[in-house]
Amino acid sequence: MTQLEAVLATGAAGVTVGAGILAYAVRAPSSSLLAPSVNKGVATRPAIALTFDDGPSESTGELLELLAAHGAPATFFQCGANVRRLPEVARHVAAAGHEIGNHTNSHPMLHCKSPEFIYGELAAAQDIIAETTGSAPSLFRAPFGVRWFGLRDAQQRLGLNGVMWSTLALDWKWPRERVLHRLLAGASNGAIFCLHDGRQLQARPDVSVMLETVRELLPELMERGFHFERVSEILCPTKN
Ligand SMILES: [Zn+2]
Repeated sequence: MTQLEAVLATGAAGVTVGAGILAYAVRAPSSSLLAPSVNKGVATRPAIALTFDDGPSESTGELLELLAAHGAPATFFQCGANVRRLPEVARHVAAAGHEIGNHTNSHPMLHCKSPEFIYGELAAAQDIIAETTGSAPSLFRAPFGVRWFGLRDAQQRLGLNGVMWSTLALDWKWPRERVLHRLLAGASNGAIFCLHDGRQLQARPDVSVMLETVRELLPELMERGFHFERVSEILCPTKN
């Protein structure tokens, strides 16, 4: 535990100000207090990183077709258990040139979990993704965006950089028009959009709102002059 984490833990025990800081540290997309993370890329290029969480699912193939039709690379934060369920789909994502990140094995809320549990979840996902696709992720996204004590160390041991988002699509609860409007409003150089091609560990999840949104979003953003980059690229200041 770092000194900062010790202060935060003390705050959680009952000091109001400390609890406020803790809530920020645990959930805020811009916070790196509990584990290092980024929530946007460089602003020097009109680039946007599309990220998709909770896959692979039975609908990921349809999303891959949409992305391919627009030549759009993306980043997929996959759960180990879903990769184990649909290994062919995970391989298809990697073969299509997209980046694959770690989204834990079973999509637990990391809040209040032990460092051993947190490390185990990240390591299990890392292993199955590497075994299935041939390469281990270098990016991690926390389920529900919730970070906790011990995550910093787990990320460090596994060589994972945390990635949050600049706009969360809310594609699991809002209708298409509203999601589309929210994403277009968040379009800016270096933006990282968070959408979902799965629902935690559900088999055959309904991600039709995401698919309909992406179908309209891609041409609209391209018309506005944006192109798409994987997360590792959008963080790099020197990419051409
Ligand atoms: Zn998730």
